[in-house]
Amino acid sequence: MGVTLYEYKEVYWQYLKQGYGHWAIPFCPVHRMELSRRSVDSLYGICEECKKSYYYNIDPKKVADYLGRKLSSKSYQDAEIISIDGIQTPQLKTRLRIPEENEEYWIEARLNKSDKGRQLVVYVGEKGSIGKVQLFANIDQEKLSFDHKDRKPEEVFAMLTASFPTGKKITIKAPDKNT
Ligand SMILES: [Zn+2]
Repeated sequence: MGVTLYEYKEVYWQYLKQGYGHWAIPFCPVHRMELSRRSVDSLYGICEECKKSYYYNIDPKKVADYLGRKLSSKSYQDAEIISIDGIQTPQLKTRLRIPEENEEYWIEARLNKSDKGRQLVVYVGEKGSIGKVQLFANIDQEKLSFDHKDRKPEEVFAMLTASFPTGKKITIKAPDKNT
């Protein structure tokens, strides 16, 4: 891996991180030479190659703070989001992956626990297809629902039954194609 320079405020910046400290060092965008500065908090620097002054007008410490946040936001793009201000506040979560074998479907389930009770979330999808079904079984409230923004369960299942501990059963059935 080579060195990375970041273009910001019309100059290039090298971002260095060590322990809890980090620094941003300005470079000439033409010559990629570190700008000569009077002090580390100088708001401009001079390229000794082109003899030009580059006024980035920002304390490089602030650039380092910004770059640090910006770069870590990149690595958070795939992060899982857990809402703690909604109804479904997961305090306990287990994730299980069911082996796919040769099935044309994949399935993933997780159990969330909140002050509203336990909720089983099941994701089901077809391999090679983008959409998925997202089912919610609220175990203690004995409710079965699905995310309407995703695919409808009856598009994937012929019939789906949730059995709750008290014996209550809720069934979602696809319309009979022969009628
Ligand atoms: Zn230069």
